[in-house]
Amino acid sequence: MRPALAAAALLALATPVRADWISYGNGWGSKWDDPVHGTPATVTWGFVDDGTIVDPGFYLAAEVSGGSAVGALRATVDAAHGAGAFDAAIQNAFDTWHAVSGITFVGPVAGGNAPLMGSVTSPDIRIGAFAAVPSSGFSWVGAVGFGPPGDDLFFPDAVAGDVAFNLSVPHEIWPGAEGAPAVPFTNDLEGLMLHELGHAAMGLGHPADGAPEVMYVGAGCCAVVNREPSPDDIAGAQSVYGASSIPACANDIDDDGDGLYDGLDPGCANASDASERDPALPCDDGADDDGDGRADHDPATLADPAAGRGDPGCKDPARPREDPQCSNGADDDGKPGTDFDGGVSVNGGPGDPNGPDPHCVGKPWRDDEKAPPGCGLGAELALLLPLAARVRRRAPI
Ligand SMILES: [Zn+2]
Repeated sequence: MRPALAAAALLALATPVRADWISYGNGWGSKWDDPVHGTPATVTWGFVDDGTIVDPGFYLAAEVSGGSAVGALRATVDAAHGAGAFDAAIQNAFDTWHAVSGITFVGPVAGGNAPLMGSVTSPDIRIGAFAAVPSSGFSWVGAVGFGPPGDDLFFPDAVAGDVAFNLSVPHEIWPGAEGAPAVPFTNDLEGLMLHELGHAAMGLGHPADGAPEVMYVGAGCCAVVNREPSPDDIAGAQSVYGASSIPACANDIDDDGDGLYDGLDPGCANASDASERDPALPCDDGADDDGDGRADHDPATLADPAAGRGDPGCKDPARPREDPQCSNGADDDGKPGTDFDGGVSVNGGPGDPNGPDPHCVGKPWRDDEKAPPGCGLGAELALLLPLAARVRRRAPI
C-alpha cells in the first residue's frame, strides 16, 4: 500500500471482506514449531525411498498396494513434460507458500525408508506415492496430506505432515497461466501439491465456498490452472504463520487477486511494499467501500458481473470508486432504466421496473448513465474534412 492521509476516512466506512479460510488449529496448535498462531516455522521435507511402505497399523495401508514409487511418478511426469518437470512442480509449491507466509522449508532432505505414517517424525513432511486399491477411499483422490501435529514442540506426531500421491490417477502439468482451463480432476501436479501442503504444512482445511481458493474442493473447483493461493488462502496461511519475509510486492504472486502482481499492481508503491493493496484506491483497498457485498477489481467479475468476488463497478484496480453511476443503485439520469442490472445488485428486490439503463448494459463500471458525447468517427471526420480542404487549397501545386 502507499501511505495516504485521505485513506483513513475511507477505511472507517469500508466493510471488511468476508473470510472463508479455516485452520485446523483455530488459533492454537495444528501448526509446525510454536503452537501459537501467527508465529513463523521452519519445516523439513523429503521423499521417502522407493519401496517404503505405509505403516500396517495405519488405515491407509489397506487402501494402497505395494511400496512407494516416487521414482516412477517422476519418470512419468518428466517423460511427458521434460526432464526436471516433476521436481520443479513440487519445489514451486513449497516456494509459493513460503512467498506468502512466515513458513520456511528445508529440503529435499533424505526421507528414509521407515514406514510412512508410522513412528518416524523426521523429516517433518515425508512424501510417498502409491498405487490405490480399486474402489478404496484413496482411489478417489489425487493425493492425501495430513495436517501438522497438534503441538510440534511437545507432542510430535508421526502421521503429521505426511503426503501420499495416488499413482492410479493421472498427474499432469497443464499448459497456460494461472486461471487457464484445465480438465477437472486430472491433477495438475503443482496445484495438487500446493493444496496438499495447504493441509500438511499450513494447517488449513477446506473452506465452505470459493472457487478461486487453492484449498476449496467443492462444486466448481479444479477446472483451471490454480497454482497461486487466493487472497483468502493467503489470509489463512498468514493467520497461522504470520507474514512472509518476502514483501508482497516482490514475491511473484498476485496476492490481492486483481490479476496484477508486484510492480504491475497499482497498489504497490515499490518492491519493498508489504501489500499489493492501497487504501487510497477504492478498487484496490481490500474493502467493500460501497456496501454492496463485493470489493475491488477482480478479472473474473469484469468478465461476468455475477462471477468472482470483485465489485462490478471496478473496471481496473486504479478506478476511483466502487459505485459509479452504472452500479450505484440510483437512476442518475431520470430516464427509464437503472444501472447495468436494473439496480438489483445494490438495492435487492425487483429493481427498476424499466430494467437496466441502456447506457450501462455490459458496462457496470461506467460512471455516466447518459449517452456518451458525440465523439464517434463520424463527428470527428466532419470536423476534419473542412480543414483538409483548406490545407489542400494552400498546397503549392
Ligand atoms: Zn484437501
